[in-house]
Amino acid sequence: MITEQKNILAYPIEYLKGVGPLRADWLKKELNIFSFNDLLHLFPYRHVDKTKISLIKEIKPETEFIQIAGKLESIEVIGEKRSKRMIAYLKDSSGVVELVWFQGINWIQKYLHEGGSYLVFGRTSVFNNKPQIVHPEIDIFTEQHTQGKPYFEPIYPSTEKLKSKGLNGKQIAKLTQTLLLQIQSQNLEENIPEDVCTKLHLMSRYEAYRNIHFPANVQEYEQALYRLKFEEFFIAQVRLNLIRLQRHKASKGVVFEKVGDYFNNFYNHHLPFELTKAQKNVLRQIRQDTAKGHQMNRLLQGDVGSGKTIVALLCMLLAADNGYQSCIMAPTETLAQQHFNSLSKLLQNTHIQISLLTGSTKNKERKAIIEELKNGNIHFIVGTHALIEDAVQFKNLGFVVVDEQHKFGVAQRAALWKKATTPPHILVMTATPIPRTLAMTAYGDLDYSIMDELPKGRQEITTVQRNEMQRASIMEFIRAEIKKGRQIYVIYPLIEESEKLSYEDLMQGYEEIKGYFPEPEYRISMLHGKMPSEQKEINMKRFVEGTTQIMVSTTVIEVGVDVPNATVMVIESAEKFGLSQLHQLRGRVGRGSEKSFCILLTGSKVSTEARERINIMCQTNNGFIIAEKDLELRGPGDVEGTRQSGALNFKLASIVNDKPLLEKAKEIAEKLLEEDIKMNLAKNLPLKNYLIQQKGKTNWSKIS
Ligand code: ADP
Ligand code: MG
Repeated sequence: MITEQKNILAYPIEYLKGVGPLRADWLKKELNIFSFNDLLHLFPYRHVDKTKISLIKEIKPETEFIQIAGKLESIEVIGEKRSKRMIAYLKDSSGVVELVWFQGINWIQKYLHEGGSYLVFGRTSVFNNKPQIVHPEIDIFTEQHTQGKPYFEPIYPSTEKLKSKGLNGKQIAKLTQTLLLQIQSQNLEENIPEDVCTKLHLMSRYEAYRNIHFPANVQEYEQALYRLKFEEFFIAQVRLNLIRLQRHKASKGVVFEKVGDYFNNFYNHHLPFELTKAQKNVLRQIRQDTAKGHQMNRLLQGDVGSGKTIVALLCMLLAADNGYQSCIMAPTETLAQQHFNSLSKLLQNTHIQISLLTGSTKNKERKAIIEELKNGNIHFIVGTHALIEDAVQFKNLGFVVVDEQHKFGVAQRAALWKKATTPPHILVMTATPIPRTLAMTAYGDLDYSIMDELPKGRQEITTVQRNEMQRASIMEFIRAEIKKGRQIYVIYPLIEESEKLSYEDLMQGYEEIKGYFPEPEYRISMLHGKMPSEQKEINMKRFVEGTTQIMVSTTVIEVGVDVPNATVMVIESAEKFGLSQLHQLRGRVGRGSEKSFCILLTGSKVSTEARERINIMCQTNNGFIIAEKDLELRGPGDVEGTRQSGALNFKLASIVNDKPLLEKAKEIAEKLLEEDIKMNLAKNLPLKNYLIQQKGKTNWSKIS
């Protein structure tokens, strides 16, 4: 009996009085409503105040719904067949409005009397300069209407199909009312501990659902909304922090006991520069994490150019000192290749064995690498997705670096963990900073570090917007930079609909640039997705070595590429890029000590939103600020890499507009779990039960 009560929200929707199998089918097909819970969470998108009777003269073009009362002056039926309609004229002290019916005329006509008083509600429109209401709700008006209980009518989303099946917004409201009554009789259980409810003055869960659908006044609605938003954040934070804290307390991880020769030798003799304070801080955090015996799972957020790679390398050396292998995974072959090159160079005079494994590694070499990994002769392996394949096995993998992680899904990360009996430590490095609220929700199960400092001697990149008319002067500017010995990027957008179009754009651009910068004085590299990887490699290599002065490329260049001598980034059709992508691309310059420039070329038609993106780019170089703006402009669903995370499926709460509430939920969730991670205290039991009920969302075996 008890379990049945608990799961009332899981009942299939056809069990609700008034639904039945046919309507259930339609609800499923059209609105994705399968259970009581789904219907309960189909929230009205607005409420209409039916306590208020307005004057006819208040109808403006922008009015949506209105309720009015008045006398019926006259009724007429005009037109034939399809254009047949009935028009009634309703008059109040301020004016006249037309009420129009196209259907059900006979039936309505019987109900209406000229000279009678009526209460009318409906969606207004203006036709021939005259206000009208088509198919209004209409009732005989009595004095009671102005007294009685205040009432806000919920307006639900419906679809044309549903309406034609007799399930319009009104009927959905009725079903929801039935549902609420049924839930009330069975006592909907709480999922927020009582002390938290008291402290934040939250209404009960049942009350909240009732009032979000059928509030008596605005205040009740707001309170219901507050409670349900908090609940969404709170439950998500409990889940994420539970995973994080369980890992801290319960997981097993490999132990890096000591700092040994590999690390010390490199640090003292081969480190090409002094580390920034931020780099040192992160190293210290990782050092602590990896010494504890629990698995580390850390997100490293550093702005472009803040020097994440060297941090990763030092950690890998630490792993080697303790007898463990490391791998570093990059999202593209170009980037993997580059990491391999620069790491190999840094490790030249050490005894570290490092290899590269990508999709294009030749079979024979591949076999050899796999063999060497298995017997432990290779210390570090750099690669792409190829590293995830089952054939790749390690002797003792201890440290995993996932670079520019938004291209790797959670499942892919998990596949890497499984390559060792004790899960290796994981360091996830992001391509671009993520707003704090987003990090808290999408990556709340990870610990995270921030590197908000650039290496010394860097100069601000100057960013400007230019258009087609200024192309010639841009080319002259480029020529002058090349004369100074610098290198240039010119980037073309990937046109999503057509790879072919992108390619043509790029080729055309390449030819044009060749016209401005002819061989042999100038040499140009080109890079695009369709190019065979050897050719990519050659083109990249020639640019990295400085043989070519200009790199013409699509966004394959986007992540991670590091050529400190490059000082100009020209982005063609900049309006087609998202903010984080623009920032990421701009990050390809300004990596050395020379002054750098980013030129955003735009077409003649630029949307307001694109203009705003470009303005932000021109105003700031700070990736953390850009990330916040990006979130504001696009909303969380679209910010790169978080789309599938599932942690963002908030129906009511918004990580953009409800930041303080999110902070509060996080703080309370963390404190609760610190105190009682098993949630066995009496006050936390309802929460625990709720989480166990919501099975399938995460692995709960550990909390029971
Ligand atoms: P990102 O964080 O974008 O991955 P990289 O790791 O590629 O940045 O580093 C950017 C550039 O800065 C590289 O050329 C790297 O050698 C250099 N660099 C990293 N750390 C420092 C430092 N502490 N001082 C000077 N240069 C540094
Ligand atoms: Mg990088």
